This record gives sequence, structure tokens and C-alpha cells, in this order.
Amino acid sequence: MSFRKQKILLKSADQVDKMQASAEILASVFVNIRKMVKPGVTTGAIDEAIETMIRQAGCFPSFKGYHGFPGSACISVNEEVVHGIPCERVLNDGDIVGIDVGVIKDGWHSDSAETLPVGQINSEAVDLLKNTEECLNLAIAAIKPGKRLSVIGSAVEDHAKAHGYSVVETLVGHGIGRDLHEDPQVPNYRCFTMPDPIIEIGLVIAIEPMINGGTKRVVTARDEWTIRTQDRRLSAHFEHTVAVLNDGVRVLTRRPSGIASLYSTQ
Ligand code: MG
Ligand code: MG
Repeated sequence: MSFRKQKILLKSADQVDKMQASAEILASVFVNIRKMVKPGVTTGAIDEAIETMIRQAGCFPSFKGYHGFPGSACISVNEEVVHGIPCERVLNDGDIVGIDVGVIKDGWHSDSAETLPVGQINSEAVDLLKNTEECLNLAIAAIKPGKRLSVIGSAVEDHAKAHGYSVVETLVGHGIGRDLHEDPQVPNYRCFTMPDPIIEIGLVIAIEPMINGGTKRVVTARDEWTIRTQDRRLSAHFEHTVAVLNDGVRVLTRRPSGIASLYSTQ
């Protein structure tokens, strides 16, 4: 089997600093938007607030118009995995909501996502959110220059399966830089059908595990954007933009955990 030739654009330290500036705007958007996520708010109102914050910072939302996507954020509720279109849907107590946002600043993209509880969520949802965020953190911790990129997929798959969850395979993480989606593709599972490059200094990638409560299988909704679980069980998604530098791995979109309160009460 031959793979499509990948073209990984490694970034200089200066370029990573520019991406960091983009990522810091994005991190602040998330910290602010968390206060809005409560029962009664619509996904459309959250999207509008996100777009306003990004534009007020002099930046542009990466997803707006991307392949025709109508929103500034992808907002996916409960069994929706990713790519939910913001709309008049009202969030209810007990829902979980995945918010995925990209920012372009001075031509450089950053990309991040988190799944948040709406009001009081049940223990099944708490466990899914905690384990999905842990999958992301373990994947980041596994990155070391000289190792293969597949340390990420292995870390995510092992943690998810150990807790009884499945990993979505049809959507993957990606390189990021002047384009939102660059090489390499970053699977969240042990994948034998994609290239497995060596992790080098200057690699910048968006790592984004999507973890399901039931089957790993997903389907596309009739709106042709929203991806949901085939069995309609819950799904969660966390994402950071991460740079491999001389002095270590830097999480460019780093911010305090949005679900920290769930960790402390359980
Ligand atoms: Mg994203
Ligand atoms: Mg992404």
C-alpha cells in the first residue's frame, strides 16, 4: 500500500510565537464563553458571542464560510460529535455541548474545542467528559521529538477503551498553521492506513479526540454538516493546538480546564 505523500510544514520559533498570539485570543474566548453555557441559551446566541469576541480582538473566525460552514463555531449537543451548526436550538439542563472554534490572527490559525456541561449533568455524562479531556491530556503528554506520531492515537485509544468508551475513527486531528488543516493527519486510534511520521521540532498540530459512549460509528445528519453517533449515545470532543519546540511541547491554546468543577466534586 502506498500513502499519499504528506507535506508537513514545520514552523520556526517566530512562527510558533505568531500562532501563540492567535491561540491566546482563542483561549480567552473559551474562558469567557463558559459563563454563557447554561439552560435556556441557544447555540446560535453562543455562536454570535464567539464571533463578536473574535472580531473585537481584530481577528477572524477560521470556520466562518469554511467549505460553506455558516457559523463561527461548531456547536454539537449530546449525541452530536462535531460540526453542529449553531441555530435556535435551546440548551437544556443535563445536556452536554461541544464547542469548537478556530481563530485567524495575522494569517495564522489556532483551533480548539471543549465539551461543557449544561446545568446539572448525570454521572454518565460526567465520566465521559472527564475521560475525553484525559485522553487529550495523555496524548499531549506522549508527544516527544523522535517518537512517531502514532503515540497520540495509542494514548487516546488505550485510555478510552480502558474506561469502556470508543474512539471515532472517521475524523482525525491535523497539522495547522497558515492553513486550518495541514498535514499530517493525526488519528486518535492505532491507524495502519495513514503515514506515521517522526515527531520533529517545529511540528504544530491540533489534537482532537472524539470519544463515544457507545459505538464508534458515526453518521452525517440531513443538514450535511452535523456528525452524530449512529446509536445516539453521548459523544465528547476536546482539542488543543500544540507545538513541538526545542524546550518542550507547548500547548498554545492552554487555559484552565472548563470542567474542573466536575473533577473536584466526583
Ligand atoms: Mg477544532
Ligand atoms: Mg481541528
